[in-house]
Amino acid sequence: MKKLKTLSFIVLSLMISSCARVPVRGAHGLHTIEPYPTIPQQIITVPAEITRGTVYHEVAPGETVWRISKMYDVAVNDIVGANTLRNANTLEKGQKLVIPNAAPIRAVIPMWPSRKWDYIIIHHSATDVGNALKFDSAHTKRRWKGLGYHFVIDNGTSGKKDGQIEVSPRWLHQEDGAHCKADGMNYRGIGICLVGNFSEDRVTAKQMESLVFLVNRLKEYYNISRSHILGHGQVEGAQTECPGTKFPWSDFRRRLE
Ligand SMILES: [Zn+2]
Repeated sequence: MKKLKTLSFIVLSLMISSCARVPVRGAHGLHTIEPYPTIPQQIITVPAEITRGTVYHEVAPGETVWRISKMYDVAVNDIVGANTLRNANTLEKGQKLVIPNAAPIRAVIPMWPSRKWDYIIIHHSATDVGNALKFDSAHTKRRWKGLGYHFVIDNGTSGKKDGQIEVSPRWLHQEDGAHCKADGMNYRGIGICLVGNFSEDRVTAKQMESLVFLVNRLKEYYNISRSHILGHGQVEGAQTECPGTKFPWSDFRRRLE
């Protein structure tokens, strides 16, 4: 019995390491995340058509047909055709699209070589509900040139999946944030906002999984040290309890690579 267990463990780890050598970066999307050995589970999947279906998608800031086609693994032309779009390049924020034969949504996160990013700053929205589009319009009203964060991690409200990572136009254009004035963090810190109020509520398990995944990938790619991964309120000179007095720092830091 003991031998059997050892054997299954070896097979599992071999599968992980052989998957890890697949050269296409990000090919496994969210599922490259560790420490959970999710990779074999994702490779031996149920046939894709079982989980595919027609979904409706509200266009978030910065999203293009190309980006949405990658998010749902659907051809650009199928989205253009299903929505009789005259011009695939002119989506509007808040526009509703039908996505035929869509796979479950996945985050599409581009990485660009840059020396600009030296910190990662974590925020909460201090609201119970929301998504990138809603914060974009709130921030626009404050004359911040739109959504101030680089990423939003949803909590399953406002039409978004729990743990969904939304990529902000500021990240897509590699622009400064408008999320933390203190210590110049708008210019050198990547701003990630989790939807929720973590002085009152808990970070959902899926939000935490996505946050750990995202921070680990950014940290690795931009060579950001652990001590430069901070909550908004931990930045020198910042006077805020953001991302909330109950944010689970020890769990989060334990899961950083
Ligand atoms: Zn904040």
